[in-house]
Amino acid sequence: MIADKMRPLVENNSAIRAMFEEGKKMAAEYGAENVYDFSLGNPNVPAPDAVKQAILDIMNEEESTMVHGYMSNAGFDDVREGIAQSINRRFGTHFHGGNLLMTVGAASGLNVILKTILDPGDEVIVFAPYFMEYGSYVRNYDGVLTVVPPNTETFQPNLLEFESRITNRTKAVIINTPNNPTGVVYSSETLREIGAILERKEKEYGSSILLISDEPYRELAYDGVEVPYVTLFYRNTVVCYSYSKSLSLPGERIGYLVIPDEVEDSKAVIAAASISNRVLGCVNAPSLMQRVILRCVDEKVNLSAYNKNRELLYNRLTEYGFECIKPEGAFYLFIKTPEDDKLFCEYCKKHRVLLVQGSAFACPGYARIAYCVSYEQIERSLPAFHEIAQEYGL
Ligand code: PLP
Repeated sequence: MIADKMRPLVENNSAIRAMFEEGKKMAAEYGAENVYDFSLGNPNVPAPDAVKQAILDIMNEEESTMVHGYMSNAGFDDVREGIAQSINRRFGTHFHGGNLLMTVGAASGLNVILKTILDPGDEVIVFAPYFMEYGSYVRNYDGVLTVVPPNTETFQPNLLEFESRITNRTKAVIINTPNNPTGVVYSSETLREIGAILERKEKEYGSSILLISDEPYRELAYDGVEVPYVTLFYRNTVVCYSYSKSLSLPGERIGYLVIPDEVEDSKAVIAAASISNRVLGCVNAPSLMQRVILRCVDEKVNLSAYNKNRELLYNRLTEYGFECIKPEGAFYLFIKTPEDDKLFCEYCKKHRVLLVQGSAFACPGYARIAYCVSYEQIERSLPAFHEIAQEYGL
């Protein structure tokens, strides 16, 4: 019964999800405290108290038919305006509510914008290592994914390789900073160069190339590192944002797209994106959550908990001999594996340590550790990591 196009998706079902399911099985067998599951980017830091209070206040104060009703496919006007003003205050931009479209998280935001712009055969460039779902999203609209190989020295985008992969069919480029799985943050210099390359190539081909900034980890940056606002560097930029990590609300499915006035044909793009939202079956982003976001627009999760995890894990693992760059953002550590990454992750399972192979991000030879877990889990896991390092002779 299932479609041919669906078969490869079933066969290569997400390695991250597979590991997560395996972790649940192992927890039932050995006890949850004896399994060190670092597989899924599911925030362990609770949503701010203000979120719970906002839900209660909305229930008490706002009208039920409005809170739970349909609204414009782009979302509530006051919510879009409130978020636009918050972005303007923080980043010196000049957005208005009409630039925003509320989405069912970043996953749906990416699907909405790709559906809006892709014709069959159009190419979308991504930088390895990248969030593997990008490939599925691009293929949903018969687009073709072009992968720029990684720069494993710094995990900053490989700009020479990037330029050489842009063709007259390139319709979009997806970047993700702070990055999953490396934790790298792209600097202003890097973004300026990406913008300059795209402008050059647009001129050369007489085409328009959309830069899509996928930024669910924008608020998760450490040591005062600045995460530059991407629309300030290149005109044809769309931002895809999510509250899954920034407010620890992944199950609530809420985020937005910013489509600035500067984007070519911006009015048409916004109108088409609203229709994409509808015909993809989302219709609109969850209404209660939209109202919550309006009241919590400048709220933040407790970053210090992630930072404490990052410091402990990075310091200990490098002490044991593992190689990795210190992440500046998100909640992942990307370590070099001492053998083939799939074999290494299998080996770690013997110590009940669950990681995700770098191949799942198009970057073999590495493994991802999601440290959005309790500090105690990290402490308990350290002897296992130490033994693994010793067994590999690191
Ligand atoms: N993009 C990246 C890089 C992610 O890591 C994730 C989720 O982990 C998403 C998009 C999807 O996030 P959301 O829950 O907002 O759909």
